[in-house]
Amino acid sequence: MPTKKPAKKTKKTKNPNTGFPQGMSCPDCGSFGPFYIASEIMLKVYDDEQIEYSSPNWGENYVSCVKCGGVGNMARFSNKNK
Ligand SMILES: [Zn+2]
Repeated sequence: MPTKKPAKKTKKTKNPNTGFPQGMSCPDCGSFGPFYIASEIMLKVYDDEQIEYSSPNWGENYVSCVKCGGVGNMARFSNKNK
């Protein structure tokens, strides 16, 4: 009788992400990125061409894992079990 093996995870590995995707990992395959993130972004534009951006609903952004295609929102991809 075939048994379904659970997806291999790397939960015990320390998350190396310290830049933009800090603390993020895929809940399905354990990948630390890269990720596709679909976001609604507000741009603050200055006359000297400086641009600042923010995402008012960051936690609700749609995320997709490039490695396995797993999807969810930012909360699902945020590693809260350290
Ligand atoms: Zn994945």
